[in-house]
Amino acid sequence: MKATIVEFHDIAPEVRHFVLEVPEVEQLHFKPGQFVSLKETLNGKKITRPYSIASQPDGNRFELCLNLVHEGAFTPYLFAMKPGDSVEISAPLGFFVVRDPAKDALFIATGTGIAPFRSMAPGYFAQPHAGQLTLLFGVRHESTIYYRDDFETLARTQATFRFWPTLSRADSSWTGRAGHVQNHISEALAGRTDFDVYICGLKAMVDEVRGILKESGFDRKQIIFEKYD
Ligand SMILES: Cc1cc2nc3c(=O)[nH]c(=O)nc-3n(C[C@H](O)[C@H](O)[C@H](O)COP(=O)(O)OP(=O)(O)OC[C@H]3O[C@@H](n4cnc5c(N)ncnc54)[C@H](O)[C@@H]3O)c2cc1C
Repeated sequence: MKATIVEFHDIAPEVRHFVLEVPEVEQLHFKPGQFVSLKETLNGKKITRPYSIASQPDGNRFELCLNLVHEGAFTPYLFAMKPGDSVEISAPLGFFVVRDPAKDALFIATGTGIAPFRSMAPGYFAQPHAGQLTLLFGVRHESTIYYRDDFETLARTQATFRFWPTLSRADSSWTGRAGHVQNHISEALAGRTDFDVYICGLKAMVDEVRGILKESGFDRKQIIFEKYD
């Protein structure tokens, strides 16, 4: 399938939100949390990279949140694309989806690891067994809390949703949580071990958080994760 870029805007330095559509289908079917693989032949080499869908199912449109890896093989090409350009995509895939039936849950993301949770958090509350959901989101600066409005709006409409951004390089005016996501896990769990925990981001963070959860008494089946590298 080919997807066409409808529009994009930069949501932080070197982080871009893309809106795409797939003209050949009326509906792109996927579960919140799944990814699409983008493919292109560059310098004679076929490159394929998966990207989490950052939007709810909505006709043939979908959204992505990408960060530019300057020395990367693919992202410089994607960041040079303009509205109207097309790229080949796979059908949506992946098992990083909210379990059915849903339990009380903790979502943990850093950086563009927030992408699947922008789709999964509203999806979580559409499930009949939705309970309490906390989203712990680590970024460096207050100005780069991606999708802050979306999550704050969800927190206003869903009494059992807590949005906890934490800043690793907070300036002195910030009164919220500071430091890495790892520092706030025990506060989010409050002594409980009956949550499902979903983690998304780079390997180093995902592995460290899994270690903390296992030490806290979590079974590996309660820990669902997506590693970007
Ligand atoms: C299931 C899945 C979903 C993903 N979803 C997203 C997404 O929604 N948004 C997104 O920006 N990326 C996502 N990624 C990562 C993406 O597939 C690419 O690996 C990334 O865009 C780098 O591609 P590249 O060819 O430019 O860099 P490569 O030439 O492949 O170089 C990758 C190197 O860049 C570094 N790096 C820095 N930032 C990242 C990053 N975000 N991801 C991976 N490596 C990074 C790593 O150290 C890695 O060694 C996802 C990966 C997986 C496996």
